[in-house]
Amino acid sequence: MKIPKTMRKFCPHCKGYKEMVVTQTKQRGKNKTHTMSRGSRTRMRQRGLDRGYGNKGSLSRGAISSWKMSGAKSSKKLNLTLKCKECGKSQIFAGSRTKRVEISAV
Ligand SMILES: [Zn+2]
Repeated sequence: MKIPKTMRKFCPHCKGYKEMVVTQTKQRGKNKTHTMSRGSRTRMRQRGLDRGYGNKGSLSRGAISSWKMSGAKSSKKLNLTLKCKECGKSQIFAGSRTKRVEISAV
């Protein structure tokens, strides 16, 4: 996915459409992995760590083999930071899933 270096987007601080500088950021907020989320608990159950006493070897066994976690996504969610050129304030812009990101000068 090709993304231009600058975009004209709405700035809530200036209350208008301004030129913004685009940079890529790491996933934050609701995209973050939770240790006790449903997906995470499923993962732990597949490793045999969900029920019973003791820590059952804890997390030292390594990752789940691929046959248990088939259908894993190959793409990652894109998170962009848009920094306003006028006020200098930035905001995070969560985008769609992509395999590759390219921020071009155009
Ligand atoms: Zn602004």
